[in-house]
Amino acid sequence: MSKAYCFYQNYREVRLLVIHCSATRYDRDFPVEALRSSHRARGFADIGYHFYITRDGVLHRCRPVNRIGAHAAGWNDRSIGICYEGGLDERGRPADTRTYAQRCTLMDLLRQLRRDYPEARILGHYQLSSYIRKACPCFDARKEYETL
Ligand SMILES: [Zn+2]
Repeated sequence: MSKAYCFYQNYREVRLLVIHCSATRYDRDFPVEALRSSHRARGFADIGYHFYITRDGVLHRCRPVNRIGAHAAGWNDRSIGICYEGGLDERGRPADTRTYAQRCTLMDLLRQLRRDYPEARILGHYQLSSYIRKACPCFDARKEYETL
């Protein structure tokens, strides 16, 4: 696809690939339908992330990447939001609960997005700013993917 064609299709400049977790317990299901209704209840038109990866490793495409998401206030216009199911341990504490299947899918997706957006940096939600007082996505995404 040529750049001109991309512009015609509302191409937008993507500078950040932001990783999130659903902040749900790893031993409880939080399927894409539940995510959708929780985001709609918060007033979003649909799921705020572009991609959602469930524990079985399935990649759910929630928003086209050329559309602005609703996942990190202040950074939405120049970012893509990727969320994995989980992020809390059995007591509800922040933990890196990614399954092997989720790690594989996330790695494949990030490789693809780095090809599409070579300028984009990969960060975890909390790494966007020191003012963000969240554990999301409960692992050091910047470090893990710095060589990608
Ligand atoms: Zn987040």
